[in-house]
Amino acid sequence: MSLLVVGSVAFDALECPRGKVERTVGGAATYFAVAASFFTKVNLVGIVGEDFTEKDADIFKGRHIDTRGLERVPGKSFFWSGRYSLNLNERVTLATDLNVFANFDPKLPEPYRKSECIFLANIDPTLQRSVLSQVRGRPRIVALDTMNYWIERTPVELREVLRHTQILMINDSETRQLTSEHNLLRAARHVFTMGPKTLVIKLGEHGAMLVDDQGVFCVPAFPLEEPCDPTGAGDSFAGGFMGYLASTRSLNDATLRRAMVYGSVLGSFTVERFGLDRLRALTRREIDSRARHFVKLTQFRL
Ligand code: AMP
Repeated sequence: MSLLVVGSVAFDALECPRGKVERTVGGAATYFAVAASFFTKVNLVGIVGEDFTEKDADIFKGRHIDTRGLERVPGKSFFWSGRYSLNLNERVTLATDLNVFANFDPKLPEPYRKSECIFLANIDPTLQRSVLSQVRGRPRIVALDTMNYWIERTPVELREVLRHTQILMINDSETRQLTSEHNLLRAARHVFTMGPKTLVIKLGEHGAMLVDDQGVFCVPAFPLEEPCDPTGAGDSFAGGFMGYLASTRSLNDATLRRAMVYGSVLGSFTVERFGLDRLRALTRREIDSRARHFVKLTQFRL
């Protein structure tokens, strides 16, 4: 079942304790698409400038990623730069140059309009809503990511798109900010009144937590001895999670739990190297092997 993603395709500059990268391909939709493409066909919607070359687009080639929805227009691509703390838990944004992203008006190519699974990566909620209104029929799953910027500046528009969303995937601080609730379970109940029936809270090095009417499921982050660069880990998590769900026919407690594990697996691989370097070299066999490792990691007897 094909999976539609809309979001940023970017150049990133990264400063991590283990080194620096001046310019590398990044963007939430890029991480998501590459991660999800190990499981299913991905339809990508985004925008880049003339500086995004064929060589940069290589990251999408040879994978199950349709780039007909990646618009190329005059100007420069979105540029983001960040610096991480020694323990990688804090990040300072050094630059966010929207460039061509400022005039992004996503248009779905005709074949994308039948998409049954949709991931609205972190962009203006009005654009997220516009993408949904271009989809024909009722999609099977709509999942959404957002950030503090949109929670603060466009609360009404965000509420509107949330009414059409089944799965909200955000981090713990965004959950608290959106709901004005410190306790994450109470926050989840609040989110359920906004539209989503499932809340996936990304907890960085502490893994992720899923809350729905069946209860709570927690997955750890895969313990890494030498984490390198957390950029895109959340988007890779979302890609693994949604990619797996799109590849299964059913959406139930068991498939959601497995999706959480695949999310954590893809997120952990991304952190191992700079930017997309680890995902670029990743194989499905390695993904499955690490997923099996999660069984061992979490199994115990009473
Ligand atoms: P994450 O580490 O999961 O927050 O994702 C980082 C990726 O998101 C980077 O590759 C950036 O290019 C992209 N990004 C950073 N800020 C924004 C933003 N305001 N809107 C869209 N994408 C962004």
